[in-house]
Amino acid sequence: MQKIDLILLKYGEIALKGLNKPIFERKLLDNIKSRLDKIGKFSVRRAQSTVYVEPLDDAADMNQALKILKKIFGIVNICPVVKCEKNMESIAKTAQECLSGLDPSGKSFKVEAKREDKKFPLNSPQLCMELGGILLDRVEGLRVDVHNPEIVVNVEIRGEAYVYTQKIKGAGGMPVGTNGKATLLLSGGIDSPVAGYMIAKRGVEIEAVHFHSHPYTSDRAKEKVIDLAKEVSQYCGKIKLHIVPFTEIQLAIIEKCPENYLTIIMRRIMMQIAEKVSRQNGSAALITGESIGQVASQTMESLVCTDNAVEMPVFRPLIGMDKEEIVTISKKIETYETSILPYEDCCTIFVPKHPKTKPDLAEIIEAEKALDDIEEMIEKAISEEEVLVIK
Ligand code: ATP
Ligand code: MG
Repeated sequence: MQKIDLILLKYGEIALKGLNKPIFERKLLDNIKSRLDKIGKFSVRRAQSTVYVEPLDDAADMNQALKILKKIFGIVNICPVVKCEKNMESIAKTAQECLSGLDPSGKSFKVEAKREDKKFPLNSPQLCMELGGILLDRVEGLRVDVHNPEIVVNVEIRGEAYVYTQKIKGAGGMPVGTNGKATLLLSGGIDSPVAGYMIAKRGVEIEAVHFHSHPYTSDRAKEKVIDLAKEVSQYCGKIKLHIVPFTEIQLAIIEKCPENYLTIIMRRIMMQIAEKVSRQNGSAALITGESIGQVASQTMESLVCTDNAVEMPVFRPLIGMDKEEIVTISKKIETYETSILPYEDCCTIFVPKHPKTKPDLAEIIEAEKALDDIEEMIEKAISEEEVLVIK
């Protein structure tokens, strides 16, 4: 594995934010620092729309830092850099070493140079020519293609010379915390972790609510959701997870409401509880993993009835996606393996045999009247919540 002296981080979209740019940059820097703090001592600083990450002692592992940085929103490109002295021989030797890891024989390349230190004797085009020539001589089978090269050797002349050949794609999006906060209804399934990831990607801080039906759902089911929250938090940073006991409410619905409306009424009450938790925690919207037509409770008509239960906007980032597309993202963000563990969710116990796929809102509201003490039950459930801060 190539040694990494320094990591350069380039940010794209946030550079376009005009007067807000300093706010976005500060947040990005804070997010990077707080994530890297967990693994060691790093210097994180910013200059000219680039963030510089350097180890402050031998224990600070740059390869581990790289893994973490790939999951921080707001970063477009990640470049692991080797530093060397500011003279041609040293730069050429370092570039050659970088190339040797890329199996360069038969590949096309070009050199890109940036001279920040104007005292360096060659300007950028001269440096490109000179270094390109040396590498062409010394590296067997390499050829030049300035328009569409397979390898780009980057050199930046600053306090020292920086050489890098790798530009890793970052997580993109905007720094979490620059776009308010929303509450994710997090189940143990495949969809909701992906939904949380997608909204966090746009800079939104995530609060999460999970409904647990002990003893019908096991402690392992709860652990699974905590694990999912941990996995999502690798991208969106700290998550406050509210685990709300839902058994009493669920049993009341089963006892008092028509069977074919169980799921939709349960879903409406979940939304109401999540909305209350949101208001108490300064969150402005709800997020679910619903997608049109995926199951009976997610037909157009069902979604309209669920939406009607709350005043807050409900974000459903997966609304137009096929399951296959959702699975692809869940594999990419590494929640899939946890999501498919076979523990019961409170929605999968007590599933009605014939759920209504075209529910009627007026009928539902009428049916809910049987739940005469629902307000107290909701308050009680919230007062008994367990709160975990996942970092
Ligand atoms: P998922 O993979 O998210 O579980 P799903 O296809 O199983 O999705 P449903 O069980 O119908 O879908 O749930 C739809 C949405 O309702 C979920 O994406 C999630 O946002 C929310 N939800 C379902 N069950 C729970 C729960 N136990 N706690 C919190 N939210 C839930
Ligand atoms: Mg589910």
